Amino acid sequence: MSLLTVGSVAFDALETPFGKTDKIIGGAATYITLSASYFTNENNLVAVVGDDFPQDMIDILKGRGVDTTGLEIRQGEKTFFWSGKYHNDMNTRDTIDVQLNVMENFDPVIPESYGNCEFLMLGNTAPAIQKKVIERLPNRPKLIMLDTMNFWMNIAWDDLMEVIKLVDVLTVNDEEARQLSGEYSLVKAAARITSMGPKTVIIKKGEHGALLFHGGHIFFAPALPLEEVFDPTGAGDTFAGGFIGYLASTGDLSFSNMKRGIIYGSAMASFCVEKFGAERLFNLTTDEINERVAKFVQLSAFEIQ
Ligand code: AMP
Repeated sequence: MSLLTVGSVAFDALETPFGKTDKIIGGAATYITLSASYFTNENNLVAVVGDDFPQDMIDILKGRGVDTTGLEIRQGEKTFFWSGKYHNDMNTRDTIDVQLNVMENFDPVIPESYGNCEFLMLGNTAPAIQKKVIERLPNRPKLIMLDTMNFWMNIAWDDLMEVIKLVDVLTVNDEEARQLSGEYSLVKAAARITSMGPKTVIIKKGEHGALLFHGGHIFFAPALPLEEVFDPTGAGDTFAGGFIGYLASTGDLSFSNMKRGIIYGSAMASFCVEKFGAERLFNLTTDEINERVAKFVQLSAFEIQ
């Protein structure tokens, strides 16, 4: 089934304990759409970049089967830029710089050919833009998933509350879930967020895995313990792309299928962190993905005597 992803396509500059990069390609929608491309073959993108964005990267997306008709290239303007620095534990990071550039007045245009998309992934961007996308689609998708971050909670709370009401699945990290709900317990936080609209809440806990709350059930997926984590940037987006891509490929929205989606998403995220930026997602094989998924099964399988 078809998936539409909307969000940032960006230049990032990153610093982790393992090194530093100048401007490399990043952006929430980049990670989401690359990750989802391993599951769904109808993968549509709506985003905006400036004329400084490299054609090579657009070709990589197209090579992964992503339809880039909805990628607007604004002449004479610059691509969104974000720079972040990780602390030693890599679980926390500081935003060093944000230059909105083309994102400042992003007005998402949905190509007619995307109008009937069945799955919608609203990647991290301004909540008012996320809402516009929902309003501009001629038909409501079967599933709408939204990712957001503390930045928007701090500066666009009312807009966020407006769009949250309209979505089926929300993904946030643990600190963001606490900020959004005012609850410390993640169980209480998920219940509170559910009362705001989304029937399904996914709380990401970085290297400590992810929790899925749906219909009174809870599922926990660990993150794969890796020997080397170079750069966690985009792991959450890659996770979301794997999850919704898997759901779109199966069309099954049951809790048991969502659990499989969480594992596929976690497997994709485990690749993302192995290299700087999104590079690791450019050419994975189905065998590599299946081997990772098998490791997840082994990691928490046990027998009770
Ligand atoms: P994650 O590590 O999953 O939180 O995602 C990191 C990506 O989000 C980076 O590639 C950034 O370009 C992008 N990003 C960071 N801040 C923002 C923002 N305020 N709006 C949209 N995208 C952002």
